Amino acid sequence: MRLDDDSGLGDDIRDLGRGGGGGFGGGGGGGLGGLLVAFLPMLLGRKMGCGTILILGAAAFFLLGPGANMLSGGGGTADPAVDSRGGPAVACDTDAERFACNAFRSTHKVWGELISGYQKPTLNFFEGRNESKCGPAQSAMGPFYCPADQGVYLDTAFFQELDQKFGAAGDAAQAYVIAHEVGHHIQTVSGISDQVRRAQGRASQAEGNALQVRMELQADCYAGVWASRARNSAGQPVMEPGDMEEAMRAANAIGDDTLMRAAGQRPVPESFTHGTSEQRMTWLRRGLQTGDPRQCNAFDTAI
Ligand SMILES: [Zn+2]
Repeated sequence: MRLDDDSGLGDDIRDLGRGGGGGFGGGGGGGLGGLLVAFLPMLLGRKMGCGTILILGAAAFFLLGPGANMLSGGGGTADPAVDSRGGPAVACDTDAERFACNAFRSTHKVWGELISGYQKPTLNFFEGRNESKCGPAQSAMGPFYCPADQGVYLDTAFFQELDQKFGAAGDAAQAYVIAHEVGHHIQTVSGISDQVRRAQGRASQAEGNALQVRMELQADCYAGVWASRARNSAGQPVMEPGDMEEAMRAANAIGDDTLMRAAGQRPVPESFTHGTSEQRMTWLRRGLQTGDPRQCNAFDTAI
């Protein structure tokens, strides 16, 4: 990708470093596959993944209130964040973080042009285990978006997993993941998330899961819209030859049916929460090819 270097310090990005405590098996392993395995029992099989986080986010918000500052570095009472090397946690200070910072800030530009008065999300790096306003941030969950603090949470160790475990290498695969989480932020600021939450409250579990799939497909489409519209400061498209294939490979790798098969399970469509590989690729492609967020309405059309 041809992204500008936009990795300077700013209050939209922070590094929470390595959280204290432990006992959740922190670091390594897991990924999206781990998410399916680890989260299922925790949540009694109810909505998993990003959707779970969205729900937990709403719950945490009401339980803790907007004043509950669980993020370190906010108040001055918390210890400075420390990284796994024992030094101070500094955002955008590794190659992987720098890339994430550049991609993340590129999303500000694209969505800032599309949505008037756009409120940027934050990007929160962490290692192993930390906290979000939606509860614990754990590497094993994979990257997620927390609506209660409008933050994207990312342990860049996931990028290696994306490559080694999911067979989706390349910067565009990584950018897709970030842009997908920002897509959930778009759903939050546009009110779509709230509407879906309300509908899910009245729905059966299978219907709720089906709505969740549509949420995820829309976020995939929004990721494509970003990739399609993003330009660097020289006015060049950030997408280079081969990037679309990289992003599509990632979307393919993290489809529910593919993940279930990889975990040795038979795919059960009623339990899907993110969509099949085919659906995820279709909606990412839709965003990429149209660059039009209005084409991303996954709720009023066949998926
Ligand atoms: Zn998602």
